[in-house]
This record gives sequence, structure tokens and C-alpha cells, in this order.
Amino acid sequence: MQKLIFLKYGELSTKKENRNFFIKLLNNNIKKVLEDVEITYDYGRMFIIPKDNNFNDVINKLQNVFGIHEIVVADRLFNKDLEAIKKEVINVLQTKQFNTFKVEVKRSDKTYPYDGMELRKILGSVILKNIPNLKVDVNNPDIVITIEIRQKEVLIYSDGIKGLGGYPVSSLGKGILMLSGGIDSPVAGYLAIKRGIKLEAIYFESPPHTSEAALDKVKKLAQRLALYNNDIKLHIINFTAIQEAIYKNIPHDYLITIMRRMMYRISAIIASRENAKVLINGESIGQVASQTLTSMNAINAVVNIPVIRPVACFDKLEIIAIAKKIETFATSILPYEDCCTIFVPDHPVINPDKHRCEEYEKLIDYEDLIYTAVKNKNTILIKAENKEFADIL
Ligand code: ATP
Ligand code: MG
Repeated sequence: MQKLIFLKYGELSTKKENRNFFIKLLNNNIKKVLEDVEITYDYGRMFIIPKDNNFNDVINKLQNVFGIHEIVVADRLFNKDLEAIKKEVINVLQTKQFNTFKVEVKRSDKTYPYDGMELRKILGSVILKNIPNLKVDVNNPDIVITIEIRQKEVLIYSDGIKGLGGYPVSSLGKGILMLSGGIDSPVAGYLAIKRGIKLEAIYFESPPHTSEAALDKVKKLAQRLALYNNDIKLHIINFTAIQEAIYKNIPHDYLITIMRRMMYRISAIIASRENAKVLINGESIGQVASQTLTSMNAINAVVNIPVIRPVACFDKLEIIAIAKKIETFATSILPYEDCCTIFVPDHPVINPDKHRCEEYEKLIDYEDLIYTAVKNKNTILIKAENKEFADIL
């Protein structure tokens, strides 16, 4: 008997012709987070054997990998003899607490001398005979014990652990996440990774108006996202000159609108350089003046690349619930100023006019400022497990 973990792919099963591509990618992603395991896979399952027998550690890590529907710990028997199966089923069940059960049989080896129905009956009565005070309940059992009769082996297992679902990271290409130190953007990033988008992040800082501590906070959030994203590139843009030019020259009710148009323009340039197909941000409809539908139009108008707003239709409490689940919340609420909060006007325009934005922007030499900001960007690679952040450029 050998103990192993197998994975059910879930949503991947809907990807008919691309299925192999998705499975290979999942395999690669898993190899990046797990060392010292033996991995094999077929069209329906992925099998993982931890070499050091550390099942808990492996399961914990797998719970952060997108593209896995269920994680199941199973016993594998190479002896397909019915007596051996009976013995192992009892062994497995004796370690568990339950009152009602159901036996399920999957029989891909069609030559096996007993059919599914016979096996269910035989194994059900063996369980009832050997473990006292149990009942069969086919509708709502405490435990389902499954016996799979495969070509070369038998798998025996009960209920699995839910995986994160979604698609393997990178399967849908790359996106640039506009990552502020707030609550919303890390959640938006997490939801985008779930759909198979490999993230790079961009952060606009305005030293000395924003502190090193604010940047550290963003790095910490990026590191948390790196857990799901394998690792994450963080592009840090010095936004001070642009922000000061806007502050000095543009009517204050339009400060935020113009500032966000600049952020979008720069993010789109980085996306095109990095071959990313979408921008992602934490905008949520109606949350602040810059997130009314009219504002979104005026801001979005400066780029052609699609902008995905995963939390657009969530209310704040829903966003906070996810932030807590992915453990970004505690970092997000640390009280460091980001560049938006410092330059916030008293009365930001709620329905900005696109043409007025264009007129106001003529008051600053924004193309040069953007060119310089992009040229001076600082990019670092953040790994999930690293305490320190390694400079790569
Ligand atoms: P969050 O909680 O994510 O900071 P917010 O409620 O503070 O969002 P805004 O400040 O209006 O809302 O920002 C909306 C979105 O714009 C953010 O979710 C983020 O995607 C992006 N953004 C804002 N500030 C920055 C920044 N300094 N660097 C990068 N992206 C930013
Ligand atoms: Mg913010």
C-alpha cells in the first residue's frame, strides 16, 4: 500500500482541446511551489507523492495553487485482490469518526471480475460487519468512501479538501495590476490570478510626499499575491513630478481625474512593453468620486487596452471578506499615506468632462513627464518565500 495525493482538475475539464496545455501548465506551476515530490499526471488526474512523507506541508501549499478543484489523500493498492481491498477499506475507515456512510465504486478496469454494483454491496456489508454502530445513508452520508478499480491499481479514499479552483496561473497570459496600498487592489489582483492571468504589478509613489513605509506596504502586499502568482514583478514609478505639475497647474476639482489618466497612460505603456494584454485595478463602482461611471469613462478614454475591474460590482464588505481570506487586510489597513490621499482635493468633480480633461492637460508637459517617469522606473522581482526583495533591474 502506498499513500499519495491526487488532484481533480475541476473547471479545466471544460477545456476540451486545450486541456493538455492547461494540465502541463498546472504541473509546472505545482513544481515551482513543491520540492521533493514525485508528480505524474494523466488526462483526468495528477498524482503527487511527497518524498519526505510530509503530507500536511504539501497539502497546505497546494491549497494556494489555482487550477485545482479538489485535493484528495488516497491509498493506492497494487494488489487488486478483493480480500486486500476489503482489508484496506476497513483500515482507512477505522481512523475516522462518522456514523453514516456510502460506498462508491469507479471501475475503469472493465475486466475486473466484480461489477460496480456487486462491489458496493460486498464492501458495504464488510464495513457494517467490522465497524460497530454504523448505518448506510446514500443521500446525506457523513462520509463517502470511494474505491476506484483502475488498470494497474486500486485507489481508496474518502472526502477530499477543496482546492482554489480557477485556472492555472499564466494560462490566460499576462496583466498589469495597478497596486496601491489599499484594500481593493490586492483583492482585484487575487481574483484576476484566479482566472489564469499572470500578474505584474505597478505602483506609483511620490516621495517625499509618500514614505518608504508606504512602499514597503505595497511590497508586502505584492509578496502575498506572489504566493498565488508564483512570483511577481513590481514596477515602481516615481510619480512626484507629474503629481506636482498637476497640483500646480490644474484646477483642483480635476486633480484626481487627471492624475488617474496619467496613471492609466503609464500603466498602458508598461503593459505594452511587458507584453501584457490587460490592465487590472481595484476600482469599485460608486466608491469614490473617481469611480462614478462618468469618471470611469473620462479616465478610461486615454487607453485602448482593456481594463478589468474584478471588484467593480462588490460592496466594501464583500471586498474586505476576501482581503481577510487572502491575508492582505491587516497590511492594507496600516496607516501610511499613498500618493492619492495626499493630493486629494476638497471637492473632486463627480462627473468630469472628457474635453475639459484634454484642455487642462495642455497646461502641463505631460508627455515628457511620462517619458521620464517610465524611463526611471524601478522594477523588482518579489518571491513568495523571500523575506528580502531582490533587485533585478
Ligand atoms: P485601494 O483600496 O485599492 O487603494 P481605493 O478605494 O483607495 O482602492 P482609489 O485610490 O481611487 O481607490 O484607487 C482605485 C484604484 O486605482 C486602486 O484600487 C488601484 O488599482 C489604483 N491605484 C490607486 N492608487 C495607486 C497607486 N499609488 N499605485 C498604483 N495603483 C493605484
Ligand atoms: Mg487607494
